[in-house]
Formats: sequence, structure tokens, C-alpha cells
Amino acid sequence: MHLRLGPERARTRTSLTLSGPRRALDLTPTFDALEVTVDGVGDCHVEAGVVRLRDLRAGARVTVSGDVEYRPTPHGLHAWTDAADGSRYVVASGALGGARHFMACDDGPADRMVTRIVVESGGLTRSWDQEGTVASHQLGLAAGPWVMTTAPGTELLARRALGQDASVRSLLADTEHVLAWLLDWFDVAAPNGPWGSTYTQVLLPRAPWLAMEHPGCVLLSERLLGAPRARRVAVLAHEAAHQWVGNLVSPRSWSDVGLFEGLAELLGQLACEAIMGREATGYLNRRRSAGALALPPTGPDLRTLPETAGLAEVAGPVQHAELLRIVSETLGTPTFRDRIAELVRRRAGTACSTLEVWSDLGMAPRTPRTVRLPMLSNAASHPKWPGDDVLTQSDPAMAAAAARHAFRACSSGGRRVCAALAVMMEPSTPAAVTAGLAAELGRRRSH
Ligand SMILES: [Zn+2]
Repeated sequence: MHLRLGPERARTRTSLTLSGPRRALDLTPTFDALEVTVDGVGDCHVEAGVVRLRDLRAGARVTVSGDVEYRPTPHGLHAWTDAADGSRYVVASGALGGARHFMACDDGPADRMVTRIVVESGGLTRSWDQEGTVASHQLGLAAGPWVMTTAPGTELLARRALGQDASVRSLLADTEHVLAWLLDWFDVAAPNGPWGSTYTQVLLPRAPWLAMEHPGCVLLSERLLGAPRARRVAVLAHEAAHQWVGNLVSPRSWSDVGLFEGLAELLGQLACEAIMGREATGYLNRRRSAGALALPPTGPDLRTLPETAGLAEVAGPVQHAELLRIVSETLGTPTFRDRIAELVRRRAGTACSTLEVWSDLGMAPRTPRTVRLPMLSNAASHPKWPGDDVLTQSDPAMAAAAARHAFRACSSGGRRVCAALAVMMEPSTPAAVTAGLAAELGRRRSH
């Protein structure tokens, strides 16, 4: 990827070299002024935002370039100027369908590739070569005048205005505990974790989620600095666990994301319990008491869309973690641990389906309890709700969170339930808003 920086927009160029022949290749960039060449020859057939290429030979070089707008959060390419000191930062996350906002990609979890990223800025060019393969949704990058705090085997980047204050240092100390616990769990001696010799995390001021597990560039919200310690430790461990389950072995399809979320969630909770002891009991009990997963009454299955598959509201990390906890109790902790570690050893660098995970565990597949939300016959009689600030959110994580917040802020009673169902059945409602409302309705129905 070549990235030239400007105040509002960037021009990106993605080049892919095919390792084998492809009868068809669909790329889904959301660029303006889109230009596509195959082996240097212009060849652009765009259908509804999809670049459709056919009969490509092995070694063919596809180059896609265009203009992209910086987005308000790291879902895609995000740039901002820190009001505290005027420093400028660029961050990108490929998760939740974000990759298509800064690179040309297949954007499926099984489409793993070797990536070389080249950034050009102010006459300087830097490049990074990815070791091993990753899928586009796993790509994250951060550039700017970050201040680095280091500890053995790990480093934490914070914006200059935040620097190395005590909360930053204590988050890094918690990271050290978490990494040590996970390396022991997976029976791996440092520095042989999947991240190599140094585990890198970046603190962001405006992240729509608490953390995102991009290999080599784990993104964290600054909200974690002020979070209760149990929550912080569980989140740090969840993301570090994803380096094995989710990144080193990745889901085969979007609908397989849930079980990988469950594995990371269970390991996050176990690490938190081991590191904090009784101090974490209250938090972990609350965390585990989440209700069933809710299925929206209409529309596509949100588990199969890149924009929503990874949302907690859809993937159900806590619900999947409870299933896996039962498996761990049935098999006994050492056997459970051996089977997961063996799965990771055998399938490292590949994508794996939910059924394959259950088969490697030696168990029949199970799914979390779900509730089916009711249909509403008089949807048209309900006024538009929850408002444009929620419905026009283009960032999936922000949209889901805003929808949940709007539901909770509404005075209780049957009326808001009817209004929420009416919004969910409206075809123009963004999928992430539907996911957020379904999660709230599911909680109400299962408690
Ligand atoms: Zn996760």
C-alpha cells in the first residue's frame, strides 16, 4: 500500500501479486477515482462497488488506486490532529469491514495474504514486510509522534500529550502479567509467542471499541486507562489470546467468528481470575451473566456480514465462552488446554471453521442459547426512532453502541420495545444498529 498524506484525504495504491491462477477475483475498495490495472494494463470492470477481474494467471500483478477520505474513527483509515499539542496521527483498522476503506481486498476471513506495506510521506518512504499471512480484516497500522513505553517483551505507544503517565505504565505492567500467563497456558517459552519478540499495543483517544487485536499493532482505547482493573486485565488478555485464536489460526468464514471470540473471551476471563484472584470475582460474575444472543426478526444474518460479524452484539463472545467453559469442565482443564494448544500447533497459519474447532475438541458442536425476537405487525405506526445521530452512524462499532445507548436512555415500558422492533424491521436501518438493538432486546427477554 502506498499512502500519501493530506489533510482530509489520502491516495492509496494497493498492489497484489497472485500466488496462483484465479478464474475470478472480486475486490471491494470504497475509493473515489478508482483506477485498476492488471500487469500495467488498464482493466476496470466495476459492478456495485465490486472490482471484478477474471482469468488471472499466476504471478499477475493487480494494482488498485484511488482517493479515500479519512474516517472519524479507526474503522478504515483514520487521521486526527491532537488538540492538546497539534500532533498529527494516522491509524487504520481493517476490522468490521474497515479494510476496504484503505486497500483493495477480497475481505473474507479465509483470504490470507502476505502483505508489504509502503508508506510515503514528506519525501520519506518506509516499508514493512509482514511475516506469514494475514487476512485483510486483521491489518492495523499506526503512524505519528507516539511516545513509547517499554517493558521486557512488550511496548506501548501513547500519543505525545499523554506521554508516560502512571496509568500508561500500570497498563503496561498488567500486559506483562497477561502475556506471561498466556505463554504458560499455551506452553510456549518467551520470546516465541505468535507476536515475535515484542508485543506492541497502541492507545487511541477515540476508539469505538475497547480494543482490537491486530497482529503486531494491537489497538487499545484510552478508556481502558480509567477502567476498573479487572475489566482492563480481561480485555488485555482477550486481545493477547486472539494472537493464537483469531490471528495465528483464523475463522474460515464470518459466521465462524463467534467461537473464536468465545475462546479469546474465556482465556481473558481465566487470565483475569488467575492474576487478580478474588478481587476480580464481582466483575467476572457480572460479565458471565449476559443473556442469550438475540436473532433480529428480519434482514440478513448479521453473523455473515464483514461489517457486523465481529461486533460483540453479534459474535456473542461471552455466550460462546460459557459453552467452552462447560467443555473445559467436562474434559478437565489439562485436556481442554492440550486440545486447544494442539489445534493451534496443527492449524497455525490457516483458517479453520467452527465445526473443525469442535471436532478438534472431540465434542459435538454446540451453539449458544438464542432468542427469536417477535415480529411486529404495526411497524408503520411508530415514529422514527432513535434519531439521525444513531441511524446515520457509518462506523459499525459506534452505530451498535449508540443504538444500545439510545435504547437504555429511552423511558422504559413496552413502547420503546415496539419502537426498537419497528426500527429493526425497516430495511434502511444499518445492520449494526439492528445488532445493537437486538442485543438490548435479547437481554430483556432472557433475564
Ligand atoms: Zn475478540
